[in-house]
Amino acid sequence: MRMETFIRKALGLKAHTVVKVEEDDAAGELIVRVERLGYRRLRCGECGLEAPAVAPTRRPERRWRDLAMREHLVQLAYAPYRVWCRRCGLRVERLPWADKWQRVTHALARAVAQLARELNWAAVAAHFRLNWKTIAAVVEGAVLWGLAHRRWDPLHVVGIDEVSRRKGHQYLTIVYDLARGRVVWVGRDRTSATMTRFFAWLGPHRARAVHTVCCDMWAVYIDAVQTHLPTATIVFDRFHLSQYLSRAVDDVRRQTWRRLAGRDKVEFKRTRFLWLANPENLARAERTRLSGLLRLNNPIVKAYLLKEDLRRFWTYRSTAWAAGHLRQWLWRASHSRLEPFTKLAQLLRTHRDGVLAWTRIRVTNGALEGMNNKVKVISHRAYGYRTPWAYIANIYHCCAGLPLP
Ligand SMILES: [Zn+2]
Repeated sequence: MRMETFIRKALGLKAHTVVKVEEDDAAGELIVRVERLGYRRLRCGECGLEAPAVAPTRRPERRWRDLAMREHLVQLAYAPYRVWCRRCGLRVERLPWADKWQRVTHALARAVAQLARELNWAAVAAHFRLNWKTIAAVVEGAVLWGLAHRRWDPLHVVGIDEVSRRKGHQYLTIVYDLARGRVVWVGRDRTSATMTRFFAWLGPHRARAVHTVCCDMWAVYIDAVQTHLPTATIVFDRFHLSQYLSRAVDDVRRQTWRRLAGRDKVEFKRTRFLWLANPENLARAERTRLSGLLRLNNPIVKAYLLKEDLRRFWTYRSTAWAAGHLRQWLWRASHSRLEPFTKLAQLLRTHRDGVLAWTRIRVTNGALEGMNNKVKVISHRAYGYRTPWAYIANIYHCCAGLPLP
């Protein structure tokens, strides 16, 4: 089979044909010259209908990158016709090998989109010898297609979480389907406008299926959920609660550190992880060191014991027992004379129902740890995302399980 025929078949051309394959040795490229086949009808680039007539003037020659052949880059070269469409008027013809505005063929776009699920964009660009912009355009195109063609599975258990871009200066709100472990929606910011956009997108009909929402104690999320999903149960995310707890311990540790002097200070050095870790995760030597420290009589020990005590809360199955435990803990914390803990107690007291809901519904966004990590990895890759949309597109691309074109 001639190379021309082989490429024509691979591209699935019907109204076009490959007239010539030229080798550009200097650039290490194969130039595949495409022409219209006889007087075959062309289609409208806008609506896809067969056009009855072709205009005499053509567009200037354009090039599209295709899958490489061995070490040669392959470029398609073609000057598109303009056609008269019954519906749209004078339009550029539809090209069967590439989407409008794309600079790569369908086959290459698919390969790029697949690899972009595994690697960061710089690596994908290097692999295919394309530039960053082209990768962004391909992923964005694949995501738009995927969002338009995804199958809607009813959403019952929702997780709402935030990620920050650029060190906390820009937030994104991510909505997860916790039952299926995937992202369903991503929006800019974490304001009530964000949540309004989400619920407008979800629509009242689909919202009716939601019975549980897991989120952080962030007033905006809580208000939005209570407004739009009045019957859903809110469960405060255990992962976030543990973070609050760690932060309180760490605040006390820092205050203690400032007050210490001499030998005590030396002994106290580099103990942050000892106070914050779960003791069962510590090595034996570390545990010994910790129990030595626990003999000191200072506020950090009190904080540590409060932390360990609240950790037991997560093991309760009976709401009544859990409520009893929480009540005692709140009393101890608010009488601890440790400011970070009195504050935390206040916070938990105002959100008591959502904290206790855990005993009935064991959901947490932490169950999506793989997913969270994935989003985080993407945000580390975020270095170089010039627009928030590029970042959002990649979260959808890697975490939403969208179909590929
Ligand atoms: Zn048309």
